[in-house]
Amino acid sequence: MVRFTVLASGSKGNCTVVTGGKTRILVDAGLSCRELFRRMRLADEDPATLDAIIITHEHSDHVAGLAVTARKLGIPVYFTEGTHRAWVRWLSPRRQMTYSQWLEQCRSQAVALMAETDAPTIEDCDPEEAEAACEESDLEAGRDNSEQPEQAHSKKAKKKEQKDPAWLPRVEYFQAGESLQIGDISVSPFTIPHDAADPVGFVFQAEGVRMAVATDLGYMPPNVKAQLKRVDLMLLESNHDLEMLRDGPYPWSVKQRVLSRVGHLSNEATATYLESEYDGQATYVILGHLSESNNLPELARISAERALSGRASLLANRLLLAGQHQPLEPILF
Ligand SMILES: [Zn+2]
Ligand SMILES: [Zn+2]
Repeated sequence: MVRFTVLASGSKGNCTVVTGGKTRILVDAGLSCRELFRRMRLADEDPATLDAIIITHEHSDHVAGLAVTARKLGIPVYFTEGTHRAWVRWLSPRRQMTYSQWLEQCRSQAVALMAETDAPTIEDCDPEEAEAACEESDLEAGRDNSEQPEQAHSKKAKKKEQKDPAWLPRVEYFQAGESLQIGDISVSPFTIPHDAADPVGFVFQAEGVRMAVATDLGYMPPNVKAQLKRVDLMLLESNHDLEMLRDGPYPWSVKQRVLSRVGHLSNEATATYLESEYDGQATYVILGHLSESNNLPELARISAERALSGRASLLANRLLLAGQHQPLEPILF
């Protein structure tokens, strides 16, 4: 089964569930854990069956519920290294901790934790293994509290979780341009132009179905256009109406940022892409990340409809709008 469910899309939170075969991936965790689970249930998705979380970039509308959700489910989180570093920095602003200091702290905490068990010492491991050991031993400690020594262990781990807001059960790195496999789903991450540390979009492929996520981009560079070829579904940004943004409530500096080449795609830019560069092959085109201050769903829809006119049919280019406040009906292939 292949299924694509947008739980939320917009500047107040982004989350999508991609299902392929037996694997379920949460793309971004920009809602609180509680709201995320509520919406999953509304969309007939069971949160307990999620296998992994993958992150596009570290802006809060994409990561707000990340730590709590990953810890609650005990599942790995996939980041680029740059995004992970930025996220860690974002969570530790007062301590002014650098990434290497954070890694060092993780290692020394692993040493302290292991000293209380019979696990191998940190000296036996290389740095990456030490980091993984740190994460794994914490997860196990967090789960097993049936016996006395483990109870003490568990308390230690809990304390550490509280102390380190960036603690995650498991972290996996990927790089833009290098495909990776998560269970039954193959993932192709690609760079997008946006004002974040190392932002990416994705093409997910399962059972021959290709689904693209491309939001939060200032313009459509050639690499993104290439990635969006031959997809069966695309979630594409249609952030603002240029006139509404120009006349809208944002301060000039913010308007400049949104309009810049590392900001967001306007209805007009999306329409230009759909009209002149898009290959017309997707069954579903979903418009997403619509601004609530500088756009109206009808404006985004009309603009894309015009661009797709002549291409829409029962078999291709069905146009949908992803909203901020409720999940979109799951799309099944
Ligand atoms: Zn965003
Ligand atoms: Zn962003």
